[in-house]
Amino acid sequence: MDEHKSLSEKMAIERMPSPEIVYIPMSQHIGAPCAPVVAKGDSVKVGQIVGNSDAFISAAVHSSVSGTVEDIKKMYTADGRFCECVVIKSDGKDEMVDNLTDFKDYKDHKIDDLIPFIKEKGIVGMGGAGFPLHAKLKSEDPVLDECIINGAECEPFLTCDHRIMLEKTEEILEGLDIFSHFYNKEVSYMAIEENKPDAIEKMEEVISAHPNWSHLKVVGCQTKYPQGDSKRLSEAVVGRIVPQNGVTNDVGVFLTNVGTTLAFYEAMIEGRPSYERVITVSGSGIKEPKNILVKIGTPVGDILKFCGGIKENHVEIVCGGPMTGKSVFDMDSPITKTTSGILVFTEEEVKPNVESPCIRCSRCVDHCPAHINPTDVNHAILKGNLDLCIELHADQCMECGICSFVCPAKRHLTASVKLAKREIRANMKK
Ligand code: SF4
Ligand code: SF4
Repeated sequence: MDEHKSLSEKMAIERMPSPEIVYIPMSQHIGAPCAPVVAKGDSVKVGQIVGNSDAFISAAVHSSVSGTVEDIKKMYTADGRFCECVVIKSDGKDEMVDNLTDFKDYKDHKIDDLIPFIKEKGIVGMGGAGFPLHAKLKSEDPVLDECIINGAECEPFLTCDHRIMLEKTEEILEGLDIFSHFYNKEVSYMAIEENKPDAIEKMEEVISAHPNWSHLKVVGCQTKYPQGDSKRLSEAVVGRIVPQNGVTNDVGVFLTNVGTTLAFYEAMIEGRPSYERVITVSGSGIKEPKNILVKIGTPVGDILKFCGGIKENHVEIVCGGPMTGKSVFDMDSPITKTTSGILVFTEEEVKPNVESPCIRCSRCVDHCPAHINPTDVNHAILKGNLDLCIELHADQCMECGICSFVCPAKRHLTASVKLAKREIRANMKK
């Protein structure tokens, strides 16, 4: 698979200035959406909570600018969720909220004490899943005794995790050190795909220069999509296989993304909530590919303008990576905590995708990391045979997109399996 990372991997992170307007989505994570806790006309500061929820599987959302709440309205986010957004007009001052609390004295506490703090800081999985971090932080049932930071960044085009590993190395390792304090003081892992040798080298250099970090180990993983999937990485790094319908916590493995670890460090040591993130803007249709630090809630249109604008021959704009991302159809739609990139493609990357009959080559079956038979699921769902989809374990699909990518007949396999998975889950709820 051509990785296309060279377009942006050498571009140092640039901070994008605050936009005039941000749209802060109330749903940026797996779990219950937040409800706004501000009203039209309120003044807000950077880092102030503007949405919250009492549900355990949820995470607070914060303003990313200082200014005035102009509206609260439903709209689409860049990744296609339709939810309430707090619309804030920036005053251009970027004034921080007072009294941000940190958790530097974590060594005097149990891991469970961190849970309300991390929930309030709004930290969620930034690799794309958006699972609230506090809901993974537990001490028992089962005991978590392996700790892995996921720096695989296996999707083509995306380079934001690569850049933060190069530019925020100390902070990420300090975040890993905090996790290791609770989970495994003997050895904890920083897993990086081998196509990022400079990041592996930099991590090893910083660890060897730090006398107290000899328990942190960098693991170079094979460059192979979807290596960054948590289940694949758990098996690759510590040999623990996650069962069907399970998560890494079920096999005693604490695993989180590298961007999430940076956000965790910033909350624990600097007291900062999650209101900005690094994203990659790339593809042959953008004039200036970049890695940028951008405020959550910034509209896609402003981001593209900051990167020189889009070329006339662009055909598609995607939020996320090319394998798992979603098409963007509204330039006002805002990025969220889980947005890893905005990609602009021309015909160079988006080939006509007309389906032809399956030639039974079995490539989709051979490549599926979840051991599903995508072509059989495709036939079953087209015939409306949900029982057969269940038998074929379509609900175990991790939506990696590789089956569609390898299919010479251009069958819409990922879309079919995703549909089957949704139908199975809806049926189970009934
Ligand atoms: S998207 Fe396709 S290849 Fe990926 S897990 Fe689902 S069925 Fe398998
Ligand atoms: S990869 Fe495409 S052509 Fe080959 S078996 Fe799967 S669906 Fe059929």
